[in-house]
Amino acid sequence: MSRTPPPRRLFISADMEGIAGVASVSQLLPGQFEYETARSWMTAEVAAATRVALDNGYGEVIIADGHGNAQNLLPDRLPAGSRLIRSWPRPLGQMEGADWPGVDACMFIGFHSGARSGAGTLAHTFHGGLFNDVRVNGESCSEARLLAAFAGEIGVPVILVTGDDAICREVSGYLPDAETCAVKQFIAWRSVATVTPSEGAAMVGEAALRAITRAPRTLLRLPAPYRLEIEFVHPVTAELAGLLPGFAQTGQNTAAAEFATMRELLVMTGFLSNYPKGD
Ligand SMILES: [Zn+2]
Repeated sequence: MSRTPPPRRLFISADMEGIAGVASVSQLLPGQFEYETARSWMTAEVAAATRVALDNGYGEVIIADGHGNAQNLLPDRLPAGSRLIRSWPRPLGQMEGADWPGVDACMFIGFHSGARSGAGTLAHTFHGGLFNDVRVNGESCSEARLLAAFAGEIGVPVILVTGDDAICREVSGYLPDAETCAVKQFIAWRSVATVTPSEGAAMVGEAALRAITRAPRTLLRLPAPYRLEIEFVHPVTAELAGLLPGFAQTGQNTAAAEFATMRELLVMTGFLSNYPKGD
């Protein structure tokens, strides 16, 4: 009996804060200033990388929409051969689909700095309204770092990260051979110097081609076990998290737990991202 092997798959985790043209919170929220335009910019960057992958050896591109309601990307504008993962909650959040059979690389498109990075446009970690900081083994982590550590655990290299220059610089520190593509320069939390959206999409496509051609293989591995400590915006959320099995409240606004794998840690941060704020 023969089984068809899975297609060679690329995984893309897509966010919105790091897309060319995006500068303020209103562009990130359905119904607000320029949201509909910004989602088309996001779609154009993701579609550019997807097209390049499908033209260069990939049979399928799994795209996880990982911003806001996770339904920002316009499916009609993605090339055939895309598999779009939309809406949540879902167990692996921004990495849902990264562990599907046949996935041999992943890209982070439209990413941004972490809450405590000190720089980066629209910097936050997972949910700015809920989390002030997410630390693993005492170190503040951006979403990119956490997701890259999970990718490393499952043996999938991150080959491209796009966003502002701040997140690109950060990622180059721990994934030195990953391709990066800065489509805008950080000026302040709510201010950027950006290329035009069409130029941004072209840049992302070119960077995707370089990444696929070079195929960087570095995996980020953080030392296990993983002590997750979250600093919440509201004390009630820390108190509630402290009631979960394995968790302890470690301060008025902090709760912590230890995990054997990054997968378990990622699932729990996703759960807590969907938690009520407590007010
Ligand atoms: Zn986002």
